[in-house]
Amino acid sequence: MVSGTGLTIATAEVDCQALRHNFQIIQALARNSEVLAIIKAHAYGHGLLEVAKTLESFAYGFGVSRLSEAVTLREAGIQKPILLLEGVYSADELLIVSVDRLSIVIHCEEQLQDIEQVNLPQPIDVWMKLDTGMHRLGFRHEQQDRVYQRLSQSKNIKQPINLISHFSRADEADGKPTEQQLSAFNEFTKDKPGLKSFAASAGILKWPQSYYNMIRPGIILYGISPIDGIIGETFGIKPVMTLKSCLIAVRQHKKGEPIGYGGTWVSDRDTRIGVIAFGYGDGYPRSARSGTPVLVNGREVALAGRVSMDMICVDLGPEATDKIGDEVILWGKQLPIERVASHSGLSAYELITRLTSRIKYTYIN
Ligand SMILES: *Cc1c(COP(=O)(O)O)cnc(C)c1O
Repeated sequence: MVSGTGLTIATAEVDCQALRHNFQIIQALARNSEVLAIIKAHAYGHGLLEVAKTLESFAYGFGVSRLSEAVTLREAGIQKPILLLEGVYSADELLIVSVDRLSIVIHCEEQLQDIEQVNLPQPIDVWMKLDTGMHRLGFRHEQQDRVYQRLSQSKNIKQPINLISHFSRADEADGKPTEQQLSAFNEFTKDKPGLKSFAASAGILKWPQSYYNMIRPGIILYGISPIDGIIGETFGIKPVMTLKSCLIAVRQHKKGEPIGYGGTWVSDRDTRIGVIAFGYGDGYPRSARSGTPVLVNGREVALAGRVSMDMICVDLGPEATDKIGDEVILWGKQLPIERVASHSGLSAYELITRLTSRIKYTYIN
């Protein structure tokens, strides 16, 4: 038996060199655009501050969704521009935004009224959000002129107004909806002096005409493809996170015996089964089907039976010599998360952002 202290259980190893590499690949695609690194949701599960510090000297700034994320960055000494991608959710937050020199999106009438009425120590850098077809946030075509005028007249807003929009279908093969969004954006923005931003990851990979002044990569920074059926490596980016655990049991298993809750997997041969200390309580998808790939000692094996809260089982094969304590990789280098996602019926975006607080993080390079 190995001693407990040396075991790797539920560890996310984050490779800062891979992160910098991905940033360089992205910057090389859009040479003339600033890069706003999107680090919302704990930097897509990679660690907000560690990712921010790794990219601080390269990125133009950072994009987050919650005021708390932005304040955490400022408190840690990050000086670069920080954009709140949905702006503030209530008027009292505008004071913090002003004091902390945060940038905000304004996407609706209520946010506009709030900023017009509040008293602020210094004007705020604003990105006016245009709804060009996503129909989630942003001002509709018929509102845009009037809103732009009001924004231009507010003493609480730094001039000129910046303009931002978001694609709904840039990852799809059919380019029509994306072209329509681009022409709606161009029509309104063409003679406006502010900065313009449209592309997130899929736009960056597929739509060079969407780069404008500032691109907003999220998932591709972490080496993951935003496009179904394609892995990040295809674009020259590298997985930043490698998610590791280890075997905590290796069992002899007889032909015809089921495994786990519901007995959903039955072996068609005598074999050896590995039990891994990682389950849905750590963030492994419970929907992962038998057959989902897992790496044990660098060798690809198949998930067998249902995912439990703390464990999964894999079929190691009859000749396996793996033993307790041996290394397991759930996804990352040598095992793209996109493959685990497709075996689970989930998007890689969801997988990467739902690791739980049980995960231990280590940072290399
Ligand atoms: C999350 C987000 C992004 C990044 O999206 P990816 O597809 O991960 O690159 C960019 N812009 C906005 C407004 C976002 O909310």
